[in-house]
Amino acid sequence: MEAHTYKGIVESEILSRVENELKRKCFKCETKKKIHDKYIELWDLVEQFFDEDECHYDHHGYCQTHNGHERPCPHETAKKLLRK
Ligand SMILES: [Zn+2]
Repeated sequence: MEAHTYKGIVESEILSRVENELKRKCFKCETKKKIHDKYIELWDLVEQFFDEDECHYDHHGYCQTHNGHERPCPHETAKKLLRK
């Protein structure tokens, strides 16, 4: 029996190419999902940890509200990120 071909490529070769492509796509989706889940988890943590009180920097650029963090204070950065 003659193998089916498409543009000179044997059917089984096409099928394996399609299968590989699907596997590659699924892998990408899976990775994306993992990153997305991690991102959501981190977002929740930042929301829990960060303090909404305004940052007040001294003349050396250290936040007096939050234990002397250097400018930009992580609380200020978190607030900006969460509001985006
Ligand atoms: Zn601060």
